[in-house]
Amino acid sequence: MYRIGIGYDIHKLIEGRDLIIGGIKITHEKGLLGHSDADVLIHALIDAMLGALALDDIGTLFPDTDPKYKNIDSTILLKHVFELVKQHGYKIVNIDSNIIAQAPKMMPYIPKMKEILCKILNVSADDMSIKAKTKEKLDAVGQNLAIEANAVVMLEKI
Ligand SMILES: [Zn+2]
Repeated sequence: MYRIGIGYDIHKLIEGRDLIIGGIKITHEKGLLGHSDADVLIHALIDAMLGALALDDIGTLFPDTDPKYKNIDSTILLKHVFELVKQHGYKIVNIDSNIIAQAPKMMPYIPKMKEILCKILNVSADDMSIKAKTKEKLDAVGQNLAIEANAVVMLEKI
């Protein structure tokens, strides 16, 4: 039996924050604003996994009013959600995702992101896709005010 889930996230880009995407620090003059480390890709992945299981979403599971999650490394949240996937008797078949940012260029960082995420989620590199897009200078993302991510996850009952 298969289940599919979709995830989306957006965070505002501001000065004075580290830019953390896909579990790695990216060199940039701005970072993403959020209660956690604001890892937009991991948050989209988490919501895709929770959505596939029809569970509560990331904001309900890890409320931004809880001081416990302040500046938390999102890979910790991802590991927790992957445990939920396993507890429900599923494994990940494959993942597809987009990071949508006008700047900086994501491409050089994608192999390392894949390595980190594949290890946490127990999938091979062949089953993990991370694509980098821009917004062609349109809207808030295109104006360098925010970064977005989408993710789709397919689960299979073990
Ligand atoms: Zn988020």
